[in-house]
Amino acid sequence: MAFIEAQGLTRKYNSSVFALNDVTFSVEKGEWLAVMGPSGSGKSTLLNVLGCLDAPSAGNARVEGIDLAQLRGDALARFRAEKIGFVFQQFHLVPYLTAVENVMLAQYFHSLADEQEAADALRRVGLGDRLQHLPSELSGGEQQRVCVARALINQPNLILADEPTGNLDEVNETIVMGLFTELHREGHTILMVTHDPEIGRMAERRIELHHGRLTDVSVFPAGEEELIDNLLKAVWHAYEDFPGDPIVADKFPEFIRNRATFQLMAQEELVRNESGMLAMSPRGEGRARSVIRRHRLAERLFFNTFGLDETLLDANACRIEHTLGAEVVEKLCIFLNHPDTCPHGSPIPRGACCPAK
Ligand code: ADP
Repeated sequence: MAFIEAQGLTRKYNSSVFALNDVTFSVEKGEWLAVMGPSGSGKSTLLNVLGCLDAPSAGNARVEGIDLAQLRGDALARFRAEKIGFVFQQFHLVPYLTAVENVMLAQYFHSLADEQEAADALRRVGLGDRLQHLPSELSGGEQQRVCVARALINQPNLILADEPTGNLDEVNETIVMGLFTELHREGHTILMVTHDPEIGRMAERRIELHHGRLTDVSVFPAGEEELIDNLLKAVWHAYEDFPGDPIVADKFPEFIRNRATFQLMAQEELVRNESGMLAMSPRGEGRARSVIRRHRLAERLFFNTFGLDETLLDANACRIEHTLGAEVVEKLCIFLNHPDTCPHGSPIPRGACCPAK
């Protein structure tokens, strides 16, 4: 049985608004799922139903085998406190309680409050020196980190996060997403609502809602082909820079930022991810060779022919490399007399047009 099983979930408002419409999906233990879709598509409603903050009009959901519809009173409160950690876009911190007291409040609903434990949770999110601050004395990013500490204090198996970086600037977004990456690595199951494709790609899998209906994103979304080229290039560069070294997926920044895309790339047999080690498959290698060749030939063209400054080559080549067709690349290679290296000295993979060596 999967960790979460949602079957035909429907949430109807009035007689005509379907916030959720017959939504069926499952989530495995330890999986990180992004719930995406435009505003008003039912994302928050789905999270609220799974967190027992709202009840479906039809259908049912099970979390770790527990049928949510059967939970009442104390059992319902216990389920929320013990099994689930919530992180919302609006922080929902109690304004007159300090950071450590806000975390202890969540403990209180679960067991005896333990200040030491609450302080440890805050240290873990980098707020060891902010324990006695009120929410108003903390920045947005710090308040959200208090929320993450609060969500974790009862060691829930399931973390439900609703646009957790929606109110944060870029620096704090990176810090908070770093925390989620760690939680995922530790085996927590995470369901994260976001409308931001960059955040969505950090998850392992994405589902998308439109008008309350689910569409599984199992094919590459439009516009993602360029991203795939760039990720293959990054793997190629790692091969070139550290030949023979294995690539540890969870230490490879591009992987951390694009888990979902790498998952799809593995399905498409462009890469392999076995026991946490990332490797290019023959298919991926062919595609990477082609994009590296286009990039370095474009750099050569800009440098040899137009005398473009060396510092501008990479960015300009990146701009056109995805648009060059095979025929143009061949003509370019012939025009440049089959160069061996790019202007920075890296080898240009040879093409069918290149004379044998
Ligand atoms: P999202 O999180 O994707 O922005 P929501 O789950 O908040 O979407 O809302 C889905 C739909 O349900 C929207 O059309 C919204 O207007 C409607 N809705 C949400 N809450 C209520 C409510 N309490 N009463 C009536 N309609 C609601």
